[in-house]
Amino acid sequence: MSDLIEQLRDIVGSNHVLNEQDVALRARHFWDSSPMQALALVKPANTEQVSAVLALCHSHKQAVVTHGGITGLVDGDKSTIEEIVLSLERMRNIETIDTAGKTMTVQAGCILQNVQQAASEQGLLYGLDLGARGSCTIGGNISTNAGGLSVLRYGMTREQILGLEVVLADGTVLNSMNTLLKNNAGYDLKQLFIGSEGTLGVVTRAVLRLRPNTPTVNTAILAFDRFEQVSQTLSHMSANLNSQLNAFEIIWNDFYRLSTNQKIKGAARAPLSDNYNAYAIVESQGANSEADQAAFMQALESAIEDEKIVDAVVAQSEKERDEIWTIRENVDLMLRHHPIFIYDISLPIVTMEAYLEKVKKQLGELWPNVTVYAYGHLADSNLHVSVAPQPENYVLNPVSGNTETEPLCEEHRQWYETCNKIMFEALSQIDGSVSAEHGIGLMKKQYLHYSRTQSEINTMGVLKKALDPNNILNPGKII
Ligand SMILES: Cc1cc2nc3c(=O)[nH]c(=O)nc-3n(C[C@H](O)[C@H](O)[C@H](O)COP(=O)(O)OP(=O)(O)OC[C@H]3O[C@@H](n4cnc5c(N)ncnc54)[C@H](O)[C@@H]3O)c2cc1C
Repeated sequence: MSDLIEQLRDIVGSNHVLNEQDVALRARHFWDSSPMQALALVKPANTEQVSAVLALCHSHKQAVVTHGGITGLVDGDKSTIEEIVLSLERMRNIETIDTAGKTMTVQAGCILQNVQQAASEQGLLYGLDLGARGSCTIGGNISTNAGGLSVLRYGMTREQILGLEVVLADGTVLNSMNTLLKNNAGYDLKQLFIGSEGTLGVVTRAVLRLRPNTPTVNTAILAFDRFEQVSQTLSHMSANLNSQLNAFEIIWNDFYRLSTNQKIKGAARAPLSDNYNAYAIVESQGANSEADQAAFMQALESAIEDEKIVDAVVAQSEKERDEIWTIRENVDLMLRHHPIFIYDISLPIVTMEAYLEKVKKQLGELWPNVTVYAYGHLADSNLHVSVAPQPENYVLNPVSGNTETEPLCEEHRQWYETCNKIMFEALSQIDGSVSAEHGIGLMKKQYLHYSRTQSEINTMGVLKKALDPNNILNPGKII
C-alpha cells in the first residue's frame, strides 16, 4: 500500500498527498466536523494528473471517492479508511468566457459562487443557484445534477451544461467539450455523467451555458391561509410574469416560526405575522427596471384582489431581499434538533397537502410531539421535509455557533428507518421520487426501488460495469 502512496506522490507531488493522519484533521462534511477518513487524500492539479491517478488506482483495484466542496447531502462523498479521496481543490480555474457564444469553460473544482460572479462581471448570468454556493463546486453540481432556487426558469444543472471532460475509471480522458447549443451527432455522452454521483467517471472540466443577465430583481414574501391559495398564486404569477418568474419557494408555518424565532441565535427577522398556514417567496428577474416592477406589483395586486394572497411584504432594498431569503435558507437551524431526519422529495403539487397530512398523522402515532418542517421549490414539485421526532431536544444557542450533525445512536437509527418507510411508502403510492435533487449516495440507496423500476436499476448496473469494471469509483454508492 505504501508503494501505491509513493506512486501517487510521484504523480501529483508529495505536498499534494495527505496521509491518513492529516486527512483526519479535516472535517468530514460541510455540516459534520467529525474527522474525515481515508487512506490518503490526493490533490491533482490538472486533467493529466487525474488521469494518471485513476489509471494507477484502476490497476491496483483501489477505491476512489471524488470530493468537490463536500456539501452533498446523501453521503455520496463519504469515504472509508480503505479509500483514496480525490479532491479537486487545486482545479479551480476559469479558463475562458465567450461572451458572444455565452459559454464559460472551467475546471471542475471551481466554486459555484465564483462562476456566478465571473459571469456577472461580463454582463451574463449562470442559471444555477443554491444555498451552498460559497462552497460547492461545478463538478459536484454536475455529479449530483443539482437543482436549487432557479430551476423554474433555467432548469437543473443538466440544462446548464454544454460540454464535459471526464476521466474514466481506467484513466481514459473522454473529451466531450462541446460548446454548441445544438449537437445531435450521435450519443450525447455527457448526459451519462451528469447526476451519476462520481460512480461512472471524474468530471475534470466543463463548458457552461450562460444567459443574458437579469439585473432587475423584485422579491416578495406572501402569506396564505390555505395551501390551495398557494398553488393558485403560483399559476397566477406564472401566467402574469411568464419567463420573468425566477423563484417560487414555499415555507410552511412550522419552519417559518423556527426560522424567525428571535430566541434562537441566527434567526431571521419576521416580515409577516407567524400565524399563517403557509408562506411563499416569489421573485422575478428581468432587465427593465420600471416595467418589471410594474408587472410584478400588478401581478401581486390582482392576486390579493382575488383573495389568493392574504398578506404580503415586498422587499424595498437589497438588505430586505436578503432578510426574506434568510428565512428560506436558515436550514441549519433545523439541524440543531437531535435526531433530525431530512428528506428531499418530488411529488405532484396537487398531492402535496394530502401527503403531508398523511405522514404527519402516521409519525404522530409514533412520536406524539413530532414536528415536521416542510418547505421547498414548490414550482418544481420539490419539497424538503425534515422530521424532528423529539422537538424538545433542541440546542437553542450553540456555543460555537456551528451546527453539527451528531451520529445517530442505534435507537435513533431504527427510528430513521421507520420514518423512511412511512415517508417513502406514502410517496410511492403517488408516483413521487425519493430524491428530487440531492441524489442517492449511500443514504437513499436502499430506497431507490421506490422510484426506479428493476429494469432501470439493472441498466444502471450494466453501465457501471461497462465503464468501471474494477468498481473503483465511489463503490457501493447509488446501486
Ligand atoms: C446549505 C446547503 C444547501 C443546499 N441546497 C441545495 C439545493 O438547493 N439544491 C440541490 O440540488 N442541492 C443542494 N445542496 C446539496 C448539493 O448537492 C450540493 O451543495 C452540491 O451540488 C454538491 O457539490 P459539492 O462540490 O459539494 O460536491 P460533493 O459533496 O463534494 O460531492 C457530491 C457527489 O458528487 C461527487 N463528485 C464531486 N465532484 C465530482 C467530480 N468532479 N467528478 C465526479 N464526481 C464528483 C462526489 O463523489 C459525491 O458523490 C445543498 C447543500 C447544502 C449544504
